[in-house]
Amino acid sequence: MASQPQGQRRRLVVGNWKMNGTREDNTRLLQGILGGWTALESVDVAICPAFVHIPQVAESLKGSQLHWGGQSTNPHEAGAYTGEVSAAMLADLGCRYVIIGHNERRRLRGETDDYVAEQFLAVQRAGLVPILCVGETIEQRESGQALATIGAQLDVVRNAAGLEAFEHAVVAYEPIWAVGTGKTATPDEAEQVHAYIREQFGELGRQLTILYGGSVKSHNAAELFQLQDIDGALLGGASLEANEFLAICRHA
Ligand code: PGA
Repeated sequence: MASQPQGQRRRLVVGNWKMNGTREDNTRLLQGILGGWTALESVDVAICPAFVHIPQVAESLKGSQLHWGGQSTNPHEAGAYTGEVSAAMLADLGCRYVIIGHNERRRLRGETDDYVAEQFLAVQRAGLVPILCVGETIEQRESGQALATIGAQLDVVRNAAGLEAFEHAVVAYEPIWAVGTGKTATPDEAEQVHAYIREQFGELGRQLTILYGGSVKSHNAAELFQLQDIDGALLGGASLEANEFLAICRHA
């Protein structure tokens, strides 16, 4: 695939609803989003609800410009994995994306880089697009290890999947200290990491979609989206409020 010049990458905004919402809450939120939606030419938008809510979200969003996805996946195809959900099941529900390697899963579920690499392969085998989350802790940042940490996280997946696999993948930079904390990386900090991630992929890096995540809100989104290596956002809290979510999509 020929690489696109910078500036021609499509924007992407993804809402990660995490473990929130009842079906009634979701109905209200989806009505708010669809009710306020105005066609966005160069932006892809997706919502990743809890697994049990995917059919509801799919039903509501089908025929709209919005896509949906999963927040994680088990890397195996099928079998005796109680409580787990496979990428094929997500594909069967019409998902386009699957978030993998989110720091909450790495921290709370002990997901390692090797496991994330297996998930990456499984998501692509199912024909879906992995959104690979990488990011450093505050201690790693303060000790000057941020880029090395992210480089190592990427290396494990790239070694397992191959460079070319990233033609059909998204990377999300989420500094762990910025997720759900109200603290955002400064534009300089974010741009430095995004440029570094792009460099890791050589020529292909120019066409790689790289999202920023960590306390993105409507008041700071425009500034982040102006940076040349930021192609959109992975949103947590801001995706649970229709007007906030819509405002950020419009900034992208
Ligand atoms: P936040 O979460 O926007 O609430 O910081 C981002 C994420 O976890 O992807």
